[in-house]
Amino acid sequence: MSALSRPSFDDFPATFRGQLYRQSDLGYPDVRAIFNARMAHWTPGLIARAADADDVVTVVRYAADAGIPLAVKSGGHGVDGSAMPDGALVLDLSNLKEIRVDTDTGRVRLGSGVLLGEMDPALAERGLVVPAGTVSTTGVAGLTLGGGVGYNMRRYGATVDNLLACEVVTADGRKVRASHEENPDLFWALRGGGGNFGVVTHFEFQARPLPETVFAGFIPFTLDQAPAVMTGLRSYMRTAPRELAVIGAMTQCPPLPPVPADMHGANSLMLIVVYTGAPEGAEKILADLAGLGEAAVVAVMPTPWPVANRMLDVIAPQGRRAYTKGAYLAELTDEVVAIAMKHAEVAPPRTNPPAPSSVQNFWAMGGAISEDADESSAAFSREGAQWFWEVATQCDDAADDEKFMTWADRLHADLAPHFLANCYINLTTDMGPEWRKGAWGSPEKYRKLVDAKTRWDPANMFRFNKNIEPGTAAG
Ligand SMILES: Cc1cc2nc3c(=O)[nH]c(=O)nc-3n(C[C@H](O)[C@H](O)[C@H](O)COP(=O)(O)OP(=O)(O)OC[C@H]3O[C@@H](n4cnc5c(N)ncnc54)[C@H](O)[C@@H]3O)c2cc1C
Repeated sequence: MSALSRPSFDDFPATFRGQLYRQSDLGYPDVRAIFNARMAHWTPGLIARAADADDVVTVVRYAADAGIPLAVKSGGHGVDGSAMPDGALVLDLSNLKEIRVDTDTGRVRLGSGVLLGEMDPALAERGLVVPAGTVSTTGVAGLTLGGGVGYNMRRYGATVDNLLACEVVTADGRKVRASHEENPDLFWALRGGGGNFGVVTHFEFQARPLPETVFAGFIPFTLDQAPAVMTGLRSYMRTAPRELAVIGAMTQCPPLPPVPADMHGANSLMLIVVYTGAPEGAEKILADLAGLGEAAVVAVMPTPWPVANRMLDVIAPQGRRAYTKGAYLAELTDEVVAIAMKHAEVAPPRTNPPAPSSVQNFWAMGGAISEDADESSAAFSREGAQWFWEVATQCDDAADDEKFMTWADRLHADLAPHFLANCYINLTTDMGPEWRKGAWGSPEKYRKLVDAKTRWDPANMFRFNKNIEPGTAAG
């Protein structure tokens, strides 16, 4: 992301009712902070923290009149740091915190500043869930606009599969609704196309039932068991109940009390497990999973859902130098597991114990996310994907970046022949214009996205994202 020429923003409209932050302001460092510290040196020119949707209109119209691009920040977890680009005008939606639940219909209205850890408890007390991601500090907004995957995707689909409507401020400063009935082309594009098409101020979801208590935790194995365990998991997940979520994580074993001390810090395979089905089914499922190898321990227990859905917070603290690449796999072949394991064995050592510094996650898909929604139903692509793979590294010292990023890049390159061309855009670094053309699936889908971009944001005001340029679909 190139630095912008630095306008002074002195003519910013006085009608704006939220808070403004310039680099010289006391609160600026806190407001500027995002998840990924690799971009901590970027200094946006002006951060406008909106009080409401009218403020959003004010900022968008100002940017349109001035002919400058506009960055949008909700939860600040975007891996490319596109919420806070250097020199840019940033529209910060963190204060749009509305959470309204209609208990009769399960319809949920959320402001764009709501984080997963704020949404989950508000719904759980009513026995409801909107399927979303696995770390509580992630923003509902950015996650939804990219697609949204998590522990409930096999049971209830991607987050976008449960989206009913969006309230959007368009690039020309109009407030519009997007749903299956209103502006359906915009609604289609918003469900997976990222922040390309306008500023979403509010989302409406259809929530689904979920027990207050679920089974959650992990089952660690020594890394040498990975070929046998992952092969077994591949077969098991084909017929497993949709209520079972498993992520196979090759990582340094955290020093958690139930894990034997000799495994602490060692490269290992952790099965991260969440089961939301009938409690009487849990014992057999956990025994089956532990029986895929010689598990060190079975640390999976009844857990309130909002607690289960933040168990990974501890390994994803805000403010480390993060790097992520992801891809879909049609199958978890023996060769894929062998390549992954070879690289896991030489993963750079932890720089900041106890948090792991590198992880390869294999997310089991299948069930609702793969089978219930058609590939053409939304911009979000899932065609052919049975597993989502990602590598994520974290360190604290800029001098360590190269070591971690080179390790992740080499691993990604070795696995590349096994990847599908389509991808989940949220859990990966942007890999450039050619990659983007295939990330949403077929050429027809990309053309449809370009058409929507050309119609709704012809000047590419919203370009700080996995960018779809207006009028570039030909070919
Ligand atoms: C630790 C961690 C864990 C994660 N876990 C998961 C997971 O389990 N499942 C999953 O699916 N994803 C996960 N993600 C990826 C996550 O979905 C994306 O990073 C997402 O972009 C975060 O949204 P945000 O609102 O927090 O980020 P932001 O950085 O605020 O937004 C990212 C981009 O989205 C766009 N955007 C944001 N809000 C709006 C809006 N209201 N209107 C228009 N455009 C907008 C902008 O282009 C912005 O640059 C994780 C990321 C991290 C860092």
